[in-house]
Amino acid sequence: MNAIEVKHWFRRYADRILEKKNELTDLDSAVGDGDHGVNLARGWKAIGNEMETFDGGVSDIFLLVSRTLISKVGGASGPLYGTAFLRMSAVLRGKEQIGKDDWPGLLKAGCEGIGQRGRVNGGEKTMYDVWLAVTEAAEKKEPEEATLALRLLEAARKKAEEIIELQATKGRAAYLGERSIGHRDPGAESTVLLFEALHDTVS
Ligand code: ADP
Ligand code: MG
Ligand code: MG
Repeated sequence: MNAIEVKHWFRRYADRILEKKNELTDLDSAVGDGDHGVNLARGWKAIGNEMETFDGGVSDIFLLVSRTLISKVGGASGPLYGTAFLRMSAVLRGKEQIGKDDWPGLLKAGCEGIGQRGRVNGGEKTMYDVWLAVTEAAEKKEPEEATLALRLLEAARKKAEEIIELQATKGRAAYLGERSIGHRDPGAESTVLLFEALHDTVS
């Protein structure tokens, strides 16, 4: 995946976030403060605009995304996604493109960034669960990038469904205690959209 394709991926994701802004916000209204869609839409709209005139390499694009998320999104998700993209940018430094074999290390770096920034473990019902599932899925060898992207998307969707039945122990949803059970996690759902956009871009 070269820099042009990475930009396509992120542009598609920005469009997806803008489309799903109200849905994400509704999910967050049920378990948090109702701003997840608005937060992400503000950040990804700015990223879409900045990418139009930006012609750096793959690592620079991830860095641009990270900086914009950290400065524009706020809340919990801005620094969490911002850290993920920052760590991924570091992994890509000096590379012309994301090769097939780069995906496991790339996703692992993003996942670990979220884990450390959020002081979160698997099973706490956050976006981290989905990042972890996708990272594990990437570790199985796959000959085709399109097949890999499909596997990542399926792993993300499956995990986002599975955690509905968990009780949240991190983030605002944790304040609900047992009442968080049965709700979708907004950050898990916005992470699924990232891998939906990736799949649409490479297939
Ligand atoms: P805020 O809760 O500050 O309003 P957002 O609504 O933008 O932030 O994002 C909420 C999402 O962030 C949650 O659905 C969850 O997936 C994720 N999240 C919150 N706290 C943590 C954490 N400590 N570790 C990992 N993810 C978290
Ligand atoms: Mg919120
Ligand atoms: Mg908030």
